Amino acid sequence: MKKQFAVIGLGRFGSSVCKELYRLGHDVLAVDQIEERVNAIAHHATHSAISNATDENALKALGIRNFDYVIVAIGDNIQSSILCTMLLKEIGIANVWVKAQNDYHHKVLEKIGADRIVRPEQDMGIRVAHHLDSEKIIDYIELSDDYSIVELVATERNANQTLVEMDVRAKFGCTILAVKRGEEVNISPLPTDTVLLKDILVVMGHNSDIRRFEEKGV
Ligand code: ADP
Repeated sequence: MKKQFAVIGLGRFGSSVCKELYRLGHDVLAVDQIEERVNAIAHHATHSAISNATDENALKALGIRNFDYVIVAIGDNIQSSILCTMLLKEIGIANVWVKAQNDYHHKVLEKIGADRIVRPEQDMGIRVAHHLDSEKIIDYIELSDDYSIVELVATERNANQTLVEMDVRAKFGCTILAVKRGEEVNISPLPTDTVLLKDILVVMGHNSDIRRFEEKGV
């Protein structure tokens, strides 16, 4: 479904969020106070505007209250990021996602009601570490401190076995959500479906169970 997004701050992070949302077919308003940044994104956004997002009237003039989601991707200027987030919550935006620079910034954003706080460098660092830690892990999403979804490559151990035969839930306590084979994604695998060598298994579970499965199951 098409959603309305506004991205404020068009540095590396903001502009890549903006481009990708637009590519996915959503309405995106791209905002920055620097003209060159706005010009650079103009072909990758539905609308773009040069504006100071710490100015309440400027935000209102953008019609910001009509947006379902606003992403605050103001980089180094923590003060502006905090002020902008506060204004957006006061205006009544339901979903304000903010990029945090450090722990202090993160804490303040939590206090003033940011709906989601992202730490791109930290999050990416964790993902890269997981890739390095296990060559079997293709991708990794943290659901909470304890639960994750990972993508693992099926090896000789699983090749030509059905999901019933693998019995991952009973043996390891985790669930196979999907099986990817090339471009094809089987999102509701049946117990009788067979796993082939190099299939990618999308597995959800407690981190310790996933680790056991990764070590002993694939
Ligand atoms: P990144 O680390 O993602 O590259 P940057 O710090 O380079 O982030 O980019 C942040 C962007 O936010 C800059 O383009 C800057 O002009 C913009 N920005 C900073 N403060 C404001 C503001 N008050 N209103 C609008 N844009 C702002």
